[in-house]
Amino acid sequence: MKLFKPRFNQREGTADSVLTPNPVRCYPTCDCLTRLGKWQELALHSEVQDTGSDAWKSLEAYVQKVAADGSDELNPIAGIGPEKWEQIVTLPPSIWTLQSVKVLSLYGSHLVRIPPEIGEMTNLEEFDPYTSYRLHWFPFEITRCKKLKRSRVSTRALYGNYKYRPPFPRLPSISADLTPAFCSVCHGSFTKHGPYQVWVSVAVATDVLPLLVHACSGECIRQLPEPARGYVPKPHQGGLEVEQPPARY
Ligand SMILES: [Zn+2]
Ligand SMILES: [Zn+2]
Repeated sequence: MKLFKPRFNQREGTADSVLTPNPVRCYPTCDCLTRLGKWQELALHSEVQDTGSDAWKSLEAYVQKVAADGSDELNPIAGIGPEKWEQIVTLPPSIWTLQSVKVLSLYGSHLVRIPPEIGEMTNLEEFDPYTSYRLHWFPFEITRCKKLKRSRVSTRALYGNYKYRPPFPRLPSISADLTPAFCSVCHGSFTKHGPYQVWVSVAVATDVLPLLVHACSGECIRQLPEPARGYVPKPHQGGLEVEQPPARY
């Protein structure tokens, strides 16, 4: 496994010159978590993926190849090249086919969301979206990856992170791009009332991640795991009024 070499310094940051070779041409940026005086209400990124682009078609073809080859790693920056990878804001739902993949390398990605189908990658052991600065949350379905043991997440970019406690966007924020086909918790169907959305911060692999839940019922919300200590102690619907524990530096 090639992750977690000491050349990466998560605390101080790592000089580009030390990353040899560093395939990332430019790191993603956004202003969501930039605090100007008081925190403002945040909104989820709404970038729409251009699924007619060469970049998207190349990514879908790459996913198909990795699945067909039974490879143990998905590393799109190597698979489709940095120029195309920079145009990708989400992963294709076809990642559910990647049963053989143990390592998901998303270093320096411009992703703004990860689709719920990641929960079907049942052999995933390592998840590396480090320096994906526009990824502020993850789908609750990632907790279905029972073998996931190691992760490397830029936690400063996360909603509710313990250093800055940026707010969580207010829910509901229903969109076709986000909504899974089934309940995030029981995998049952949604009723005509649609999904109930909540945030919950849970320990996943090496990190505590803010997870977006689409639940079919109040009962499924009650079934959610206990939030991590030091985070909002109950599932919640975001917005500025949510009280978070004080920041820890
Ligand atoms: Zn952002
Ligand atoms: Zn349910």
